[in-house]
Amino acid sequence: MVRSAQHVSTEVLVIGGGLIGSAIAYGLVKQGLQDVLVIDPDLSGEWSSSELNAGGVRGTWSQTVNLELSKASIDFFSLHAEQVGYRPCGYLWLHRPGTWDAALRAREMHVRHGWPVEVLDVEGIRQRVPFIDKTSDLAGGLFGVRDGLVNPNRLKEHFREEAQRGGAKFMDGAYFCGAEFSEQGRVGVEVFRFASGLSSIKKRELLSRNPSTRGEFATEDGDWIRIDTDRVVNASGAWAPEVARRLGYDCPSRPVRRQISLFHARDLDLTPYGMIIDPSGVYFHPESIYGLSGFANQGENPGYRFDYEGDSFFEEWIWPALYERSTAFESLRHVSGWAGLYEESPDHHAIIGEAIGGVIPAGRVFEAHSFSGHGAMQSFAAGRGIAERMVLGRYETIELESLSAARFRDGKNIPGETWVI
Ligand SMILES: Cc1cc2nc3c(=O)[nH]c(=O)nc-3n(C[C@H](O)[C@H](O)[C@H](O)COP(=O)(O)OP(=O)(O)OC[C@H]3O[C@@H](n4cnc5c(N)ncnc54)[C@H](O)[C@@H]3O)c2cc1C
Repeated sequence: MVRSAQHVSTEVLVIGGGLIGSAIAYGLVKQGLQDVLVIDPDLSGEWSSSELNAGGVRGTWSQTVNLELSKASIDFFSLHAEQVGYRPCGYLWLHRPGTWDAALRAREMHVRHGWPVEVLDVEGIRQRVPFIDKTSDLAGGLFGVRDGLVNPNRLKEHFREEAQRGGAKFMDGAYFCGAEFSEQGRVGVEVFRFASGLSSIKKRELLSRNPSTRGEFATEDGDWIRIDTDRVVNASGAWAPEVARRLGYDCPSRPVRRQISLFHARDLDLTPYGMIIDPSGVYFHPESIYGLSGFANQGENPGYRFDYEGDSFFEEWIWPALYERSTAFESLRHVSGWAGLYEESPDHHAIIGEAIGGVIPAGRVFEAHSFSGHGAMQSFAAGRGIAERMVLGRYETIELESLSAARFRDGKNIPGETWVI
């Protein structure tokens, strides 16, 4: 990376330093590229999805490509279990009769692809998780043996440390605003660099409002810098549609708020268990001395919203479902919670590949985003995949061409992912 006062030069610029941007930097240096720069207005990621997620990792999916992405990533997590906090404590999917046959068919696919999943009848569920004692509506359960949890922060740090060891640089306080393309020349990128660390409120305001024109930034807050680069990667998660627009192409995804509640169950120790997914859509797992639970409210409007509704969310969506599953959940104490953004694509698959459209010359802009709530568990394989595509010109380990945004533009639709929570 060459730097003058207001001018920076790099071979690859990655926009967004969450789990995916960090995994891409790691993937690129593993492919031998050293001149990689990752920019983010807030590398601590306070409002990023990588900071606000539930830490679940699983190979139990309805679509093979998701199984493959998760499997390769979980293999990586197992190799670095200590550093990334991987615990194979399992995912238990509870099913009512209406979804049970389809679940068993999906399980055949899991096993065919080398992903171990046990079938449990209702008695088996009660034996494995004795506190689940309200089972009259259930047909059975699937238990993903290698599914489990990671520590997303430690995982992100691990990617970053390895990427930095290979030469990649991370620039904090750097906010992407626009780009200029020329057929032969390099890409000229306009970035506002904040002079000092932003307060939590200012970060939230920036990432909710998404300014992009010069008049929207105060000169006393920082400086404009220009970054010249050969290639740009849009790895900005839920902000990918904004970043895409500034790069001159369309992204069909949308940011959607998801809320998570922490609860305390007085006489129940959840720590021996992993992730449990109730047929209602409510999921929960142990989180230190509490239970962490979430639910995707389908009535949620898209938008950059981070407000947590607190007791009303817990009492309307979480507690009724838990109450119906266990007598141990009849008296629960809501402790706290938070909200973060899902980056939802129309078919609930990630968008990975070369970005095409508008004035962008071929081979200049790449993208990896829109993981639709499963980016942590697919981060390693996604970063490795896009790095292969950029450096080798093809996918070498997992074929990811089907995840290119061309599927929406050219009518090459793929079956949507249905095991989403
Ligand atoms: C409540 C919740 C629960 C979840 N649970 C799970 C789970 O159990 N398992 C799982 O695998 N996934 C889960 N996810 C999804 C997962 O967190 C995301 O898929 C993943 O973190 C996406 O990583 P990312 O790097 O693409 O996005 P992010 O982590 O959001 O990073 C994007 C970065 O882009 C930066 N950015 C934005 N605009 C700009 C700009 N103009 N210039 C430069 N940088 C910019 C942001 O500051 C941010 O740091 C969950 C998400 C939520 C919200």
